[in-house]
Amino acid sequence: MTSTTLLARQWMLALGYALLAGLAVTLTRFDGGVAFLWGASALLIAALVRTSRRNWWAPLLTCGVVGALVTGTLGLGWAIAPFLLVANLGEALIAGYLLKRDRSSGELMASLNWFGRFLIAMIVGPIVMAPVAGAILWAFGGSFAPTIKHFAIGHALGNLALTPIAYMMTGRAAQQETRRILQRHRTSVLWLLPTVGLIVFFTFWQTSWPILFLPVMWVVLVTFRLGRLGAAVSLALLTGIGGLLTAKGYGPVSLTAASLGDRMQFFQFYLAATVLTVIPIAADLHNRQKLHRSLRRSEAEFRLLAEHCTDVIMRISTDGRILYASPSVELVTGYRPGELIGGHSRMLIDKADFAYVRDEHRATLAAGGEARTYSYRTIIKSGEQRWFSTHGRALLDEDGEPIELLSYIRDITGAKADEREWVQAALTDSLTGLPNRRAFERATARRVADGAAGRTCVALFDLDHFKTINDRFGHDVGDEVLKNFAARALRSTRPVDMLARLGGEEFALLIEDADIDQAYDICERIRQDVANSLIPASPGAVRLTVSGGVAELGPEGLGAALKAADEALYRAKRSGRDRLLLAA
Ligand code: GH3
Ligand code: MG
Ligand code: MG
Repeated sequence: MTSTTLLARQWMLALGYALLAGLAVTLTRFDGGVAFLWGASALLIAALVRTSRRNWWAPLLTCGVVGALVTGTLGLGWAIAPFLLVANLGEALIAGYLLKRDRSSGELMASLNWFGRFLIAMIVGPIVMAPVAGAILWAFGGSFAPTIKHFAIGHALGNLALTPIAYMMTGRAAQQETRRILQRHRTSVLWLLPTVGLIVFFTFWQTSWPILFLPVMWVVLVTFRLGRLGAAVSLALLTGIGGLLTAKGYGPVSLTAASLGDRMQFFQFYLAATVLTVIPIAADLHNRQKLHRSLRRSEAEFRLLAEHCTDVIMRISTDGRILYASPSVELVTGYRPGELIGGHSRMLIDKADFAYVRDEHRATLAAGGEARTYSYRTIIKSGEQRWFSTHGRALLDEDGEPIELLSYIRDITGAKADEREWVQAALTDSLTGLPNRRAFERATARRVADGAAGRTCVALFDLDHFKTINDRFGHDVGDEVLKNFAARALRSTRPVDMLARLGGEEFALLIEDADIDQAYDICERIRQDVANSLIPASPGAVRLTVSGGVAELGPEGLGAALKAADEALYRAKRSGRDRLLLAA
């Protein structure tokens, strides 16, 4: 804070303090004692809270000088003035210290917690300083006990009623909020606040009816409509107008036969009760508004996300009903969200995968908020089958029980097709289009696992002198010969059999549901077909022969069967090629 700002603030503080102290001293002192209502300390407390501690001397000095002047000229006189300062400044210092110690107290009327701390800070100072004031007055010939009572009650009440508004007028955040309320609720401010003033004036001016409840109703109403600003201003109006008129002998309080001092005391209790009603309402309301604002913000963020995302966000109840579907669902499924919401998620799932999805749904609900991912087939509105992938997570209540399922759904049909293509490519020999060794191994393994191995045979073929063909006709003709053999061999096999190229010029045949003799016949047909054909090539044509070995696929598996077939093949080669031998 610059020294100019500090100085300017002291002038403002001096003026306000002089005004409030002057009013209190001239209007609320009876029987030569201290003032019954003391609001000036509220200004000093607010100034202390707003000022850093090393600058506290400035507001203390300002209020000390002004306070002494007021007491000297209008109050108990010059002699007692310096002593009374101790009580007045001391009380504000205690409150300032208690509020300042707690940094969160800067948020005015922001919570019930704040209210509790504020209440203590406002009351402790007057209670501690009341005996000091009593002793001072007693030393100057006044009464001890009544002074304690009047000082404690008058000051605590003044602090409670006026510190919030003093604080609000000096804080930046509060000033911003005040500006916001003035902009948004200008009409309400323009008629509600003057109405409060009028009602307070009417209530405390007339002396016919005991209508003290009337201002309270309006103060509460204004608090609901205008929040903390409304509460602070209407409480200040009630304190000022109500206090002055009561002190002058007007108003419903004067309907009692009590002395003016007792009536002022009653008014103070009335005021305290109103303050204690309104401030917690204002605090709670402020919190709700804050919560409401942050909820609205996060809702807007979620909407933005959900409405512009090409994936679908769904909320699904524990029994599978669709509670929410983001707009993109129309793009993905053809259904508008309205057609799906309320219906069962079953309507989107392919029957074949329904049990699987239901199990995954249950597992996700039981996963304690852990995410699970699963993919399945769906039938969209057009009747077309698509692949969806769901990333699901259960929403839990405070006991950890699942309330519903939050699903993030993506159409993965394209990716699935790619995947199928890759799998296909990984299992196919690119030259001949036949299954490759991996595919052959898988098929045989499945066969063994099914326990059907006993009725299955395996044959191995190896083209004879293939290297020579390559050398004579070139590699391209060699390739053509490989394709030619594949096509020819396929012609002699049944659809249930599987011909594969294991590599190079080596082929294998899986022969299902056949004993070794039947298998031999099939392989022999292939051998003869190859041997009787001429494959055209330039120059001339290629005459090709093939040798083979046949073995049964036993429960020991493919390795053993291939080894036996290979051994038979080796013997076939050794005994002149172009022949087929059975495994020993
Ligand atoms: P054998 O009668 O003893 O089986 O003699 P072979 O010449 O057929 O046997 P070898 O294993 O010596 O030669 C196989 C040749 O097959 C060697 C290799 O260059 C050739 N080869 C392997 N893969 C391909 C291919 O994809 N295309 C072509 N054109 N040739 C291939
Ligand atoms: Mg070979
Ligand atoms: Mg060969």
